[in-house]
Amino acid sequence: MATKKISQGQSWCSRKWLLVTAVLLIFVVTVLVVAPLIEIGLAEYWMCGVCGSKKQQSTWLWGIGTQPRVEESALAMWMAEHRLRHEHQWVYTHGRAYSLLGPAARLTGELPAISMLLSNDLMAHFVRKASEEEITAFLDVMNHGTTQQQEEAIQDACAYAISKMP
Ligand SMILES: [Zn+2]
Repeated sequence: MATKKISQGQSWCSRKWLLVTAVLLIFVVTVLVVAPLIEIGLAEYWMCGVCGSKKQQSTWLWGIGTQPRVEESALAMWMAEHRLRHEHQWVYTHGRAYSLLGPAARLTGELPAISMLLSNDLMAHFVRKASEEEITAFLDVMNHGTTQQQEEAIQDACAYAISKMP
C-alpha cells in the first residue's frame, strides 16, 4: 500500500511540472510569435525638398501622437533672418514601426537631392560663405527650377562649400 501511495504522489508531481512547463512554453512562444506582430508605435521622418529642414513625428497605439518636431536647416534659418516667406515642402524619407519587442519594420520613402548638402555640415558652410545674391539665386532654383537644375545647383553649392572649407 505504502509503495502505491508514493508512486501516485510522484506521478501527480511530474504531471504538475509537465503542465507548468507546457504553460510556460505556450507563453514564451506566444510572446515571441505574437509580440512582434503587435504594432504599438510608428516614428515617421520627412525632409523639406527645398531647404533640407527635418521633421519627425511619432504615433502610438490608440492614436496617441506626439507633436511634430521640426529641425530647421541652416538655409531655413537664413530665410527666416532675411524675412523670406517659405513653406516647407515635406518629402517622406522613412519610418520605423515599433512592436512590443522594440524596433520592427522599416518603411522607406525617398531622400530629396538637398540631403547631399546636409552631409558634413556643407550647408552651414555654404550659407556662411556665399553672398546674399548667391544664396537667393540658389533658393530661386530650388523653388522654381527643374529637377535637373536643382541637382546641378546642389552640386555647385556642395563644391562651393568644400572650396571654402579651411
Ligand atoms: Zn523648407
